[in-house]
Amino acid sequence: MDFSFAGKRALVTGAGKGIGRATALALARCGAKVVAVTRTQADLDSLLQECPSITPVCVDLADWAATEAALQDVGAIDLLVNNAAIAKLQPFLEVTADQFDQSFDVNVKAVLHVSQIVARGMKARGSGGAIVNVSSQASQCALRDHAVYCATKGALDMLTKVMALELGPHQIRVNCVNPTVVMTDMGRLGWSDPDKAKTMLSRIPLGRFAEVEDVVDSTLFLLSDRSKMTNGVSLPVDGGFLAH
Ligand code: NAP
Repeated sequence: MDFSFAGKRALVTGAGKGIGRATALALARCGAKVVAVTRTQADLDSLLQECPSITPVCVDLADWAATEAALQDVGAIDLLVNNAAIAKLQPFLEVTADQFDQSFDVNVKAVLHVSQIVARGMKARGSGGAIVNVSSQASQCALRDHAVYCATKGALDMLTKVMALELGPHQIRVNCVNPTVVMTDMGRLGWSDPDKAKTMLSRIPLGRFAEVEDVVDSTLFLLSDRSKMTNGVSLPVDGGFLAH
């Protein structure tokens, strides 16, 4: 399916690496003007070399005040992808308060905050918009050592539904994609061990992990008018992992 986002402005968080970077580049290829938000300047420098039309914003999204300041002049945004997240894996009995707070700050609180900033503009302009939150299969299925990560993604799925409920009347659609393992830096953190990977693969009916492009394609679909009646859903990109 070919998508055109010509004339649209898109903001992607966590656009320095992995899925977010590929999403930002894909949106730019489809004609959108892209604002790329991440916290490592070197990633933004290399992204701009690859795609000079991208507008970079360097900020730690865990910092509420810094995010507010960094995005205050970002201008009109039609499409938002809340992709930035962290995964800190620990057995449940060893989870620390810091780990909990850092994870919720980035994976949930920053999504709420960036969406507020962007959706206030969408509402004021009356032009509608589309938001995709990058969740995970971990929102709906328990994974060992993922207590906090699973909890953040479960919260994100529900945040998505409430955003869909409240923003729908302003013609702002909000959905999430829920990928299985993707071998990005984050994916490698949890699934490089061949035994762990084998166990996970055995539970995926299609028998493979997702590619970055699988997640990008579903995200573009949910951002596009091809899904114009879809609002408040969690779309698995998991080869069937959540089907059983
Ligand atoms: P990744 O390779 O680790 O990339 C994450 C990006 O987010 C990086 O550019 C990172 O910047 C940025 N980021 C993290 N914390 C940030 C903060 N506080 N402020 C600004 N930027 C921040 O991860 P990924 O695998 O592409 O994951 C993208 C999304 O997919 C996440 O929501 C993740 O939960 C979800 N997901 C991933 C998988 C998987 O297996 N990979 C599976 C399901 C869902 P730095 O590198 O500078 O920290």
